[in-house]
Amino acid sequence: MELQQQLQDVQGRLHQNEETLAAEAEEQYAESWDNVSHMSNESCCGMEHIRDVEKDYKALQEESRRKKEFLDAHITTLKDDLKREHRSGCEARKKIAVLEKDKTDLEARMHAAEDKLQAINTEMTCPVCWSSPITHLWPCGHGLCRECKVLNKEAQDVTNEEEDLDIWFNCYDEQYHCPVCRRHCNQEYPLGNLHLLKKVTEILTPDV
Ligand SMILES: [Zn+2]
Ligand SMILES: [Zn+2]
Ligand SMILES: [Zn+2]
Repeated sequence: MELQQQLQDVQGRLHQNEETLAAEAEEQYAESWDNVSHMSNESCCGMEHIRDVEKDYKALQEESRRKKEFLDAHITTLKDDLKREHRSGCEARKKIAVLEKDKTDLEARMHAAEDKLQAINTEMTCPVCWSSPITHLWPCGHGLCRECKVLNKEAQDVTNEEEDLDIWFNCYDEQYHCPVCRRHCNQEYPLGNLHLLKKVTEILTPDV
């Protein structure tokens, strides 16, 4: 009786233990399932997040590619512009060089013309006073200004008043002589007046 009681006791406790353990196991199972679903939920969110990031990244990549294409095209255009500008700059420089050469040539021609004018002025200036232009020519080709012609006549003690103001010096008289070459003015030099014309023509003849 005592033994049977004891066995029943033990069996009862075992049964109780079994029930407790089953309940605990069930509880633990539910908890771990919760954990599992929670975890998968999290990882699901994580995956979605990764996919979002991936999408953003791909969008960014696409945008970068488009921007790069645009920049490449822009750079090509700029390079073309630069080439064109360089070419037109070269052309402008060539034109400037041509114009500068023209200017130099023109200046040289102007200087030559000034020199010739100076030489003609010298030929046309009275060789006695070197200040007034020649107004009277001697048959020898030398000339004098009006004042020097009068003074010269006075110095040579010639008294032919009517001739004094003649434009063309009528000096074929034996008494007159040229103050430059001292030649007596007579018919020996009928073409003497061409002397000045010859000089001026020489000056104006272009150098070969
Ligand atoms: Zn003079
Ligand atoms: Zn003379
Ligand atoms: Zn003379």
